[in-house]
Amino acid sequence: MMPFTAPESYVGAVVDAGGEPDADSLCFIFQQTLLLVAGEPRAAQLPGHGALAGLAEVPLRRLYLGTLGGRACYAFECGADTQAPQGMLWQGLRTLYGSLDDSLFALAGRALQFIDWDRTHQFCGRCGTPTRYRSQERARECPACALIAYPRIAPAVMCLIRRGSEILLARSPRFPPGMYSALAGFVEPGESLEQCLAREVLEETGIKIANARYFASQPWPFPHSLMIAFVADYAGGEITPAPDEIEDAQWFSIDALPKLPNRISIARRLIDGVVAEMRA
Ligand SMILES: [Zn+2]
Repeated sequence: MMPFTAPESYVGAVVDAGGEPDADSLCFIFQQTLLLVAGEPRAAQLPGHGALAGLAEVPLRRLYLGTLGGRACYAFECGADTQAPQGMLWQGLRTLYGSLDDSLFALAGRALQFIDWDRTHQFCGRCGTPTRYRSQERARECPACALIAYPRIAPAVMCLIRRGSEILLARSPRFPPGMYSALAGFVEPGESLEQCLAREVLEETGIKIANARYFASQPWPFPHSLMIAFVADYAGGEITPAPDEIEDAQWFSIDALPKLPNRISIARRLIDGVVAEMRA
């Protein structure tokens, strides 16, 4: 399963029929982008709802997420200075991949996005009035002008380009040293995914592509992207990296690949999948 995609046993809901979190509930407690976890570094666990009582400060917000395998799930946000209760710690979500159960990890990504959305939509974007929850859907509504704000999702395309037995990989200045990945960029209003793909690749590397094929998609909660990955064929052009955006771009033989992104990201799944297909 692609990391961050909804677990099969998850049923989303906005209003909690039962009322309050209890001993059976799953609690995703955040401090900014950090999740409160218990247990050992390699086997992190969500704290029980008892952790809420162990917090020195009352959480700033609480959102109901629905159920996972029948268990009610809640997301909480704590203030920036809130200490972790005894035996627990605040951990960045990325570092919990493989350590926290995959289903819980996926829901933590969803919870993080809902919390971020809730925090940043407390006031109406049109008239400034404080907003309130809608009970029938995941949205906040302005009581004065009725503007509705839904959780924001920014679609972004990713492209891996094939040429013979080579693939085009590039590095952004913010990547760890030596790491290369597929090209990616955000979709602009008024463009299709295919148009965005062609524009991004041309802007970032000066390369023209053809035959774009859908590969897979992945919700990416840092902060609210939906990555949509494609593989395409080289159709012309010389590599000309865009200044500031692309530090280096090269054709790599599939037998001599550089350092690649972690398997938490669709980028790595895309590269592994396409390379396996090229080897077959
Ligand atoms: Zn308003």
